[in-house]
Amino acid sequence: MSTIFLLTLIAAATCAPTDEFVESFVKGIEEMEKIAETYQYKQENFVPEHYNTSETSEYDFIIVGSGPSGSAIANRLSETPEWKILLLEAGYIESPVSQIPAMEKYLQHTPYDWSFRTTSQKHSCLAMEDSKCPLKKAKALGGTTATDQMIYTRGNRQDYDKWADLNLKGWCWDDLLPYFMKIEDAHIPDLDRKLHNLGGHVHLERFQHSTPLGKHVLEAGHELGIKTVDYNGKDQIGVSIPQATTKDGRRNSVAQTYLGHAIKRRNLEIRTGALATKILVSPHTKEANGVQYLQDGKLINAKATKEVIVSAGAVNTPKLLMLSGIGPKDELEALKIEPVCDLKVGHHLKDQLTFYGLNFIANSTAKHPTVRESVEELLHHHNGPLTTPGAEAVAYLKTSASKEKLDLPDVELLVTRGDRVKKETHEHDRFSIEVTLLHPKSTGKLSLHDADPLHHPLIDTNSLTDPDEEDLHSMVAGIKAALKLAETHSLQKLGVRLDHDKLPACKHIEDDEYWRCAVRHSAVNRGNVAGTARMGGEHQDKEAVVDGRLKVMGVHRLRVADASVVPVTISGNLVGPSIVVGERAAHLIKEDWK
Ligand SMILES: Cc1cc2nc3c(=O)[nH]c(=O)nc-3n(C[C@H](O)[C@H](O)[C@H](O)COP(=O)(O)OP(=O)(O)OC[C@H]3O[C@@H](n4cnc5c(N)ncnc54)[C@H](O)[C@@H]3O)c2cc1C
Repeated sequence: MSTIFLLTLIAAATCAPTDEFVESFVKGIEEMEKIAETYQYKQENFVPEHYNTSETSEYDFIIVGSGPSGSAIANRLSETPEWKILLLEAGYIESPVSQIPAMEKYLQHTPYDWSFRTTSQKHSCLAMEDSKCPLKKAKALGGTTATDQMIYTRGNRQDYDKWADLNLKGWCWDDLLPYFMKIEDAHIPDLDRKLHNLGGHVHLERFQHSTPLGKHVLEAGHELGIKTVDYNGKDQIGVSIPQATTKDGRRNSVAQTYLGHAIKRRNLEIRTGALATKILVSPHTKEANGVQYLQDGKLINAKATKEVIVSAGAVNTPKLLMLSGIGPKDELEALKIEPVCDLKVGHHLKDQLTFYGLNFIANSTAKHPTVRESVEELLHHHNGPLTTPGAEAVAYLKTSASKEKLDLPDVELLVTRGDRVKKETHEHDRFSIEVTLLHPKSTGKLSLHDADPLHHPLIDTNSLTDPDEEDLHSMVAGIKAALKLAETHSLQKLGVRLDHDKLPACKHIEDDEYWRCAVRHSAVNRGNVAGTARMGGEHQDKEAVVDGRLKVMGVHRLRVADASVVPVTISGNLVGPSIVVGERAAHLIKEDWK
């Protein structure tokens, strides 16, 4: 998107919505759609001689990455005026168009995403070119909260109790609930106020626009004996209308909330388009004392007198650690990177796979305004189809395939309407039910491709490889639960039917075997990757990279705080938990340095 056009939009955003202003949004939407159609990521090579090297001033703390954890940490540390903080972010600021919730599906195909791909998979991604799946991760101020589906989930209380069982003091549900309460600003009626809060940085509302579909799905659940719940409340298993991290119908990323509140503080410096290439660690004292980064054609060394905190996300955090000599010694030596500390960085990758192949048609229930009408609705009334990524209902289910003893769900079903940005009228509504595997038993591995900081790492999600095929069984059971919902009277009265072109590779197979084949061919990651710099009890957990205070084991003055540290998968999506990891990291840092 042209910079001038963006600036015009930003300037216009402060004025009353004139015709010209509405038109600029309509054009912005068209432009974003075009970018998404044609955008192709180009890999560059790092040639050190092409950069001027310069020293910058000293900071107390340097934070790498402005995702949900990094932004929370930047905000909380900058509350202490005598501390000087540098926040480095490789991506750039959102635009008013990217903040329109309905644009979510386009953002994944623009420079706002890193364009990662997995390595060739043997048991999944079989329908993809070279059996490599796309793996979405945002490159933007605010991290993936600038591009995600904006559905707010905490996970299940028992997930965190499992963390604590790993000898991780301070990480059980009762320890973390106060953080979840602190971050929330929940403007959703009928929530249990003992478990929800107002006044935090994470504004929660229902998506401002919905169709009757959500209500029908709740009724369908009722027919099948599935309770309607607040999945962030006391009982998670059941069906619900999603809780959204939007505000007045716009995306409300952590860049707008946590950083927006902190930006005026003179002790916080935020640099965008700044790619950290290495953590500077003394090989003798094993102390992190700064970060090297690229910005505007310069290679800059910034010093940290207190700590470096890596919050570059579950893909780039392990990559940066390994580029800095922290990782499996033999792998680093093979790439001629001097090892500083031998740790299982990149191991224990957990990929919450999603199957997108359940598409349905229903008789039309909604009015289909034009794009211009939708923009007017958004700008004048903070409403209309542009205020939602289309998510109408969500269910957390424990399927018959689950071998879990506790009352934990193994799949998430997300009911999502298509065609939010309408250009013509349709006779039918279309929706899909996305089935996500919450607790993959298969474990992947992330490693460096080479020592070039501009090259993507090798992401082997190793999905659907667990020997007992529990992952595949859960996915198929989730698909069958979705099909059962579609067969209920509540959905049948909308004329719901499967819109089903069988996958060519699976077309000769029927029933469960077909779905197994379809999952192996077309299920992909939805952006929830975790565990690549896993937190664990010192001396007990051989795969642990950080301890319970988020300190990198064996390296001083270095912490990791983001989805990489998640030691046991969460029954939900990771924005909420990652913000809480950031809040807790800030708390621990303050405890250690005050
Ligand atoms: C398409 C999509 C939809 C999703 N929908 C939801 C949802 O609805 N709800 C939900 O809870 N979760 C959702 N998620 C998942 C969720 O957004 C992530 O799991 C969550 O943001 C945690 O991510 P992270 O810790 O890996 O950090 P990220 O959010 O990935 O942030 C890391 C940041 O660090 C920056 N960075 C990386 N490397 C460097 C470097 N070397 N130098 C400087 N900066 C760097 C990145 O550009 C990025 O801004 C979705 C994800 C995707 C991709």
